[in-house]
Amino acid sequence: MQTLWFESVLLGTGWAKSVRIGVADGRITSIETGAQPSGERQGIALPGLSNVHSHGFQRGMAGLSERRGRPDDDFWSWREVMYRFLDRLTPEDIAAITAQAYVEMLETGFTHVGEFHYLHNDVDGRRYADPAETAGAIAAAAEESGIGLTLLPVFYAHGDFGGAPPAPGQRRFLSDVDGFARLVEASRARLPADAVLGIAPHSLRAVTPEELAAIIPLVNGPIHIHAAEQTKEVEACIAWSGARPVEWLLDNAAVDARWCLIHSTHLTNGECDRLAASKAVAGLCPVTEANLGDGIFPAIRYLEAGGRIGVGTDSNILVDAAGELRGIEYSQRLAHRRRALLAREGASVGRTLFDAAQAGGAQALGVTGGIAIGHPADIVALDANHPALAGMADDTLLDAWIFAARHGAIDAVWRGGRKIVTEGRHIAAAAVAARYRQTVASLLA
Ligand code: ZN
Repeated sequence: MQTLWFESVLLGTGWAKSVRIGVADGRITSIETGAQPSGERQGIALPGLSNVHSHGFQRGMAGLSERRGRPDDDFWSWREVMYRFLDRLTPEDIAAITAQAYVEMLETGFTHVGEFHYLHNDVDGRRYADPAETAGAIAAAAEESGIGLTLLPVFYAHGDFGGAPPAPGQRRFLSDVDGFARLVEASRARLPADAVLGIAPHSLRAVTPEELAAIIPLVNGPIHIHAAEQTKEVEACIAWSGARPVEWLLDNAAVDARWCLIHSTHLTNGECDRLAASKAVAGLCPVTEANLGDGIFPAIRYLEAGGRIGVGTDSNILVDAAGELRGIEYSQRLAHRRRALLAREGASVGRTLFDAAQAGGAQALGVTGGIAIGHPADIVALDANHPALAGMADDTLLDAWIFAARHGAIDAVWRGGRKIVTEGRHIAAAAVAARYRQTVASLLA
């Protein structure tokens, strides 16, 4: 049993002052407002955020694809660089790089990650003796960092729509349905005790309708899929089926609250409204989407229609929870030449986006979010003495953190009641970074 005391806490019911939180066995057992300071005293407590979309290993190639390889450099040429990078990764490399990404996530306010894990086979494209060899590397990175894990093993069988044969660069991803079922079961056995197991058909490029129907019953957990990230993908989907990717899924895949459609960037108004009504989560990754030149999600219409969102760091080009939230609003401002576009009635932009990403992110990863009795003690403390937060209270604290704080605003993070970030640094940051530097240096040598 431990006691934490905060000046200010964002509860499900709103902001509360002078709050004492009791924690036992990793869960919140009591919340008392207007309480005298006792136990460990901190500044401002927020519930931890869920990072709905990560490819951990891609952290190791961040910054390697910022030259123009050809005049029309785009997502597809970035993907070639990514395929060359992952060609050589061992399970140990994956664990080392992913641990670094997870440490950075925790330091920035994410307490849970959805790992969209597709690197299943060895460098020659053969299954490892244990089909969950690389899933084990992800689990090890989660355990070392302490972040909560929702593992989403990826089904990937084809190179393009209509069951086209895969390219050589995709050999480490590939499964058939039976092999994938074995992979999912083997992955289940490697997970940390409190982890969640979902499933991820990679995209409609990589899975046929028959395969999609066959793999969905393999788990009870979340279902994630990349959809409508690129206009070329939308055009190819129409050529294949007569429908756009999100439209096809809504028409054919019984999309509901179990689903998270990653990106969903290119939507017609009709798709936008239908996706909002489906109760699925749109997994927005604005930092990566900007880096890859994907496009701008129609957030104004979608949120007005009651749509659910989560945020993800995807390529991990820059791991920054506040940056993802900021990116959603800034992309709308740039597109519409107005300000404060996503603020709901009676709340600031920061509060609106934080609440939406907190609730939608937890739904998408199959976990309970929010600071409440009985929930896991996943708490992020802002430093009340950080200059960017001076004079701020309640919702403006969130606005200042998201739009104005640069770094250092996050002081501490507890995950499952364990304090794993203190004074802004993860307790294993130095050791994890040392191994990461060695791993990346030898990969790039
Ligand atoms: Zn992705």
